Amino acid sequence: MKKVQKAWLAEIFTSIQGEGPLVGVRQVFLRFAGCHRRCEFCDTPAALMHKPTVWLQESAPGRDQKRANPIIVDELVTILRGVRKEVGPVHSLSLTGGEPLLQADFLRVALPCLRRAGWSIYLETTGDRWRELAMVLSWLDFVAMDIKLPSVTGQADAWSAHRKFLKLATASRAETFVKIVVSRETSKDELRRAARLVKKVAVYVPVILQPATPHAGVHAPTATQLACWQALALATGLRDVRVIPQCHVFMGQR
Ligand code: SF4
Repeated sequence: MKKVQKAWLAEIFTSIQGEGPLVGVRQVFLRFAGCHRRCEFCDTPAALMHKPTVWLQESAPGRDQKRANPIIVDELVTILRGVRKEVGPVHSLSLTGGEPLLQADFLRVALPCLRRAGWSIYLETTGDRWRELAMVLSWLDFVAMDIKLPSVTGQADAWSAHRKFLKLATASRAETFVKIVVSRETSKDELRRAARLVKKVAVYVPVILQPATPHAGVHAPTATQLACWQALALATGLRDVRVIPQCHVFMGQR
């Protein structure tokens, strides 16, 4: 008998993309529960819980309704059809987390249905689960991947996994960009290493240096640091290095 795939969600809501080169577009956010990392700057601790019993569906701006986990593919497609009717045209469906790729078995079944239903798919990911990426890559339109600097995350490095992930993503039809969160604690050597990693794989991929939003002992970089680091990344030969803060924070969006 065919196995019914299930997913554990944290929330579904509509908002404005606040990060990266597509900042400002209207998206429906499908936030998956669970993450394998524990970045010190994490601003979505609610999404770190694995297999929560409930998730939140935005029923009106600023108002949420509790729904039961897990959810099956048909249920998700129906819910999202209703959301789109309610909120009108949006740029895309943002798969976010947590780490959406932890639920790749579900995505592998759900994404073809969602594409057929007319959704463009935008994946926000920690950028190290390359095996899972390979399972769903052909259904993605945008890949917004992180490269995590240990000096900022307080976690072990993942250079090799990031390299494999980026190679796969850039070899696909999906539009790919790389986000690197930088804080006052950022190590120049790590940043240079990250920039060289991207340059070796795909010199034209946009690299976004995202200043950390101050949070739980994580400090925002100074203006001087940001200017130096952008110059440093460009000096490795990368063609497109931008500094873009988390704009949804300024706009009061979630
Ligand atoms: S990868 Fe993202 S969701 Fe996971 S701990 Fe880091 S910031 Fe939080």
